[in-house]
Amino acid sequence: MSTKLAWIEEELQKLKEAGLYNRIRAIGSPQGAWLVVDGKSVLNFCSNNYLGLANHPALVQAAQKAAGDYGVGPAAVRTIAGTLELHLELERRLAAFKGVEAAITFQSGFTANLGTIPALVGKDDAIFSDELNHASIIDGSRLAGVSKIIRYAHCNPDDLARLLAENRAQYPKALVITDGVFSMDGDIAPLDKIYAVCQQHEALLMVDDAHGEGVLGKGGRGIVDHFGLHGKVDIEIGTLSKAFGVVGGVSAGSPLIVEWLRQRGRPFLFSSAMTAPDAAACLAALDILEASTDLVDRLWENTRYFKGEMKRLGFDIGQSVTPITPIMLGEAPLAQQFSRELFEAGVFAMAIGFPTVPRGKARIRVMISAAHARADLDRGLAAFEQVGRKLGVLS
Ligand SMILES: *Cc1c(COP(=O)(O)O)cnc(C)c1O
Repeated sequence: MSTKLAWIEEELQKLKEAGLYNRIRAIGSPQGAWLVVDGKSVLNFCSNNYLGLANHPALVQAAQKAAGDYGVGPAAVRTIAGTLELHLELERRLAAFKGVEAAITFQSGFTANLGTIPALVGKDDAIFSDELNHASIIDGSRLAGVSKIIRYAHCNPDDLARLLAENRAQYPKALVITDGVFSMDGDIAPLDKIYAVCQQHEALLMVDDAHGEGVLGKGGRGIVDHFGLHGKVDIEIGTLSKAFGVVGGVSAGSPLIVEWLRQRGRPFLFSSAMTAPDAAACLAALDILEASTDLVDRLWENTRYFKGEMKRLGFDIGQSVTPITPIMLGEAPLAQQFSRELFEAGVFAMAIGFPTVPRGKARIRVMISAAHARADLDRGLAAFEQVGRKLGVLS
């Protein structure tokens, strides 16, 4: 083998020794409470399919119909020949759902961040970013090429206020960015307090609601609804690949920002869009969310039940206040072994270690869904108890 690539082999070996090597399992079934993984039926505790929409008959039907009506590929970037009426309808509907004036869709939540942040700030400006923000916010911030990226202490508006007071005057524009719900710990950004700090220092406010929409707020309308901050957050990023069950991303907020993104959002300008079946399935998801809060209510019922029982068993489930349930295990090899044992017991729940979470804070992350029946949750709890005792995590 070429010696030019020997370093990769060494790095991969190091990852394996540290228990940080990603072993990716292949799924052979639709998303749902149960999956077929490596030919084996297992309880699904890993998906972001919060509301069970990823294989919902109404979404599948809408996608099939759109494939029949429009075919499967977008054929061009949207500015040239790739914007369908379906895309525009989806943007109108998403804006209405979120209670904002305008929205623009991207291929994913990741590209929504990559497109939006560099369009809003540039080389003379500063970004103030929660230290635990998602990788796509970090990468979008780097792409913006700002003068300075200033990280504030996690979910700490006082630290943000201090840093803005010290630094704000040096920059023409300041953009404050936070995740709404933090995907590894399941805690919620204090957006009301962050908004007040932004007002005081004339900073733009952007929130990434990827784990909030479909989960927080009335009928899953997201973090802005949760805090009653309608009209106050400058731009919201969202994903259509979690609770919405499909794939795609969105930036939503003031019509002026959205209009600007249609001119300057690089993934919008230089990469093809969501397909017609994707857009149609998202519209069907909106129909369901707007018709009733049943799925969101069931998600929260399941969450309360599972977390209560895990605490009763004696697991450390961190500080989460959302359906994201981290089971804190400490070292990465233990978390990986726990995940393997769970899989043997018929439960699919991934171990998460560095660099996704800090060293020494490895965990299993359980994602609760409205798709889980009570019996599924009980089955999962029994497996956690059995493996927890076997590995000495429970006494
Ligand atoms: C998952 C996630 C994304 C990426 O969304 P995709 O649609 O999967 O690209 C972006 N931001 C946050 C906070 C996320 O949790």
